[in-house]
Amino acid sequence: VCTMRSTPRLEIDLDTIYHTAHTLVQRLNRRGISVTGVTKATLGSPDFANALLRAGVSSLGDSRIENIKSMLHANVTSEMTLIRSPMITHAARVVKFADVSFNTEIEVIRQLSVEAQKADCIHRVLLMVELGDLREGIMPDDLIHIVSETCRLPNIVLEGIGTNLACRSGVSPDANNMATLTELANLIETTTSQSINVVSGGNSANLTWALSGADTGRINNIRLGEAILLGRETLHRKPIADLHTDAITLIAEVIESKSKPSKPSGKIAQTAFGAKEATTDRGRVLQTILAIGIQDIDPAGLQGDKGIKICGASSDHLILEST
Ligand SMILES: *Cc1c(COP(=O)(O)O)cnc(C)c1O
Repeated sequence: VCTMRSTPRLEIDLDTIYHTAHTLVQRLNRRGISVTGVTKATLGSPDFANALLRAGVSSLGDSRIENIKSMLHANVTSEMTLIRSPMITHAARVVKFADVSFNTEIEVIRQLSVEAQKADCIHRVLLMVELGDLREGIMPDDLIHIVSETCRLPNIVLEGIGTNLACRSGVSPDANNMATLTELANLIETTTSQSINVVSGGNSANLTWALSGADTGRINNIRLGEAILLGRETLHRKPIADLHTDAITLIAEVIESKSKPSKPSGKIAQTAFGAKEATTDRGRVLQTILAIGIQDIDPAGLQGDKGIKICGASSDHLILEST
């Protein structure tokens, strides 16, 4: 909740966030799956983080160590997971501020071990596996080798394995790729006698699969950001039953509002952001400009209130049509 009523701002209804997070945690816990609440889209907002913790998430996850640091600074009490592979130059900060980090490179894990020894602490590592989306992840054939190397490192404990789908390429979590993750967990245990506690199956894109009633195998954790913020799954961006999709409202100030032609006049070349498709003439419209732009927001992600159409944006101007 914003107390400095400046614009532009986001108003976030924390009761709605709590309700959404609590509902998802309950539904997933019934399937044997814990939830890591992902705070990165709020830059680690302590109010948001505390709402998730009240709702029963088992851990908080963020992609930036700076965000984890600011939550700790605000006395947020939780296990903290760095969900992006650490930058090797951040190894000392990672072992200081994160309890667990997601990793794919043995060189980085070695450096985490060096820093954990210096700091006299234990750092837990979850190894991410590549299962088709082609973002981060160890190729399955290399996993056993990296597990063995990881387990030899002082002050490093192997927490488990995980995967991330539907981020770079839109690969859907399904019975096949999730069964592969389960099999890999089993394979590690039988070939290395190292036990795997956490098998983290993915993100908001995993909800449809996780709640479908399908066999969830050994998947016992997923990491949720967008589903909690927006009350929707992310494969087709459909609302999730009984959840609110309007927890977050963007407030911006009107700086111009005039009746104008709907079609530009003159010879058309590129816009500030490259080529634009031709506009049709719809006569005169009420055009309103808000003091916010592409520097602040992705206009494609906005949904106008009833009667408000989002027509375009440049760096500092968002253009609407309304009645
Ligand atoms: C951002 C992220 C998540 C959360 O994704 P949502 O789609 O917002 O649920 C989970 N895991 C990883 C590794 C991420 O980078």
